[in-house]
Amino acid sequence: MTAPADLILTNAEVHTLADPDETREAVAVRNGRIVRVADAYEIEFLEGVETEVVDCEGRTVIPGFVDAHTHLEMVGQHLVNADLREVSGPAEAVERLAAHAEETDDDLVVGYGYDESTWGTARYLTREDLDAVSTERPVVAFREDMHTASLNSAALDRFRGAMPAEDVQREGGDPTGVVVEAAVDPLFEATEPDRAETRDLLVAAQQRANELGVTGVHDMCRNSHKPRVYRDLDADGALTLRVRINYWTDHLDSVVDSGLRSGHGSEMVRTGAIKTYTDGSLGGRTAKLREPYADGETAGQWVVDPDELRAYVERASDAGLQFTAHAIGDAAVEAVLDAYAAHDAADHRHRVEHAELLTGDLVERFREVGAVASVQPNFLKWAREGGLYADRLGERRREVMPFRDLLEAGVPLAFGSDCMPMDPLFGVQQAVTAPERSQRLTVTEALRAYTRGAAYAAGEEADLGTVEPGKRADLVVLDDSPWAVDADAIADVDVAATVVGGDVVFRD
Ligand SMILES: [Zn+2]
Repeated sequence: MTAPADLILTNAEVHTLADPDETREAVAVRNGRIVRVADAYEIEFLEGVETEVVDCEGRTVIPGFVDAHTHLEMVGQHLVNADLREVSGPAEAVERLAAHAEETDDDLVVGYGYDESTWGTARYLTREDLDAVSTERPVVAFREDMHTASLNSAALDRFRGAMPAEDVQREGGDPTGVVVEAAVDPLFEATEPDRAETRDLLVAAQQRANELGVTGVHDMCRNSHKPRVYRDLDADGALTLRVRINYWTDHLDSVVDSGLRSGHGSEMVRTGAIKTYTDGSLGGRTAKLREPYADGETAGQWVVDPDELRAYVERASDAGLQFTAHAIGDAAVEAVLDAYAAHDAADHRHRVEHAELLTGDLVERFREVGAVASVQPNFLKWAREGGLYADRLGERRREVMPFRDLLEAGVPLAFGSDCMPMDPLFGVQQAVTAPERSQRLTVTEALRAYTRGAAYAAGEEADLGTVEPGKRADLVVLDDSPWAVDADAIADVDVAATVVGGDVVFRD
């Protein structure tokens, strides 16, 4: 006799995403893994007295989303500081910061996530704007990309000594309040949460993730308490999200010395890749391009130059570690692919994060090298006509994020959000409605990139990413079918329930 299931989801439209068009009616789960995917009556045989049965009432079931690029503390920070993501312009940003200043006991007033490209004015927040929040207390507003920040006069007084002069922007000799790249580092230090605060941020963020149908993340960790806190939460049985820790190159020696290799860890927390930057962002005109910006003199800058990058990739590869490099401009992507070419990128699952501007031969180079394209479909919001990328790149905006070209070339495609915002269905909608044919995916292709594609990017495709017997029972129940609703309404589809390892971790 077959043992009964622990959990059954039935009366559903289960899209397994194993085979592109396959649907079934029910899923049975035992010991955290899927044991059968079949018609409802076949699954009934697995129902015992203790089986939890969820009647999905015809709703859609898909594999849990794996967000292949997160900074989970950011999600928490938006929940506890001034959230500047949705503001309509400088005036509303100032209002939110002022309101937060009244609430917080901290001397430092911090806001996250402003994006001037969505405002009519399209200018950064300045010292003058933020002096209206306070002339006494330091005020810092991080731009959405975290490569740029704006400071009031009090914050400039406090932090300028620690900032490289070339990254502090000026007008007529006076600082405008806008700082970029290395000048942002002292602000990260000043706003760094301690271990207890980190735990609070991550607990808030994982709950939000589960509400959005996210069951796993590849989280970027640099000089933070996150690795320890993730393991503490795991030991306490308090994790409802699978976390793969990508360690910054600052930690490369420690990771090598401790004998860790990619994939080591528990069911919930694992060692991932070694991560570095190479360039900056298109927003900040610091992404490294082959040709100069359409609206600037320069072609961007290296944050980590190609020689240094090569050395990191070699050391990590030799130690059996996956590598992943932030590269946004076409020159930066080329440098990363060059560095990977000597190190069997497909075997290591070496990845390029963002890989935004892929001019000329770069899609083909990706295929040759065998690297994973870890991309963020939500960034397409900047690539539309009249958007930020049209300003920065002119006609080259048509060559950003060619997801269809990558798929057709056979390049492994993994979707993530970079937490701008964390919201897989928003990203899926952006990919499905992308302006260029070279960018546009079907609903199935986009969902696969956010599930099995992301699992592949971690070498975890045998365990995660599809609804198949033997895989871990990470599932999402959606109120409506993304295949049935208008493409422009995919982001509005609600998550009805989220299951991680057979446990219902969120139910609407
Ligand atoms: Zn990132």
